[in-house]
Amino acid sequence: MSKQIKICILIVIILAAAGIGAIFLLQNIHPDGRIARIYHHGECIETIDLDQVREAYEFTVAGENGAYNTIRVEPGRIAIIQASCPDKVCVHMGYISDSAAPITCLPNEVVIRITGKDTDGPDAVAQGGIPLRLDTVFGIFPVQVN
Ligand SMILES: [Zn+2]
Repeated sequence: MSKQIKICILIVIILAAAGIGAIFLLQNIHPDGRIARIYHHGECIETIDLDQVREAYEFTVAGENGAYNTIRVEPGRIAIIQASCPDKVCVHMGYISDSAAPITCLPNEVVIRITGKDTDGPDAVAQGGIPLRLDTVFGIFPVQVN
């Protein structure tokens, strides 16, 4: 009888260790998977894996009537460094390296978003990311997480 209880405790410990390991793995997925998506007039025109960038480079998104945004890509980060828009809000935002705030140029309709590798948009990261998976992991434990 006591041997069975010991086995039960052992199984719970193993599951807990596996769960904790899974949590660390899941938390590491997002910092490693940073994809910058550049939208022009609401259409994704460029997808860049920021973690694969080894050397900085620049390119220009051209719009109508001479509108342009010059985008600079560096290892792990991206920025709009020059733009034809009058407010230059997009240039002043500087470099971004995570999904916290996209760079938006309203006059030229250029948006740069950073998302994780395994998702299609920032909403999926925010809503279906870590918290949901934590519930799934903890679902196998005989403990109440909340
Ligand atoms: Zn702008």
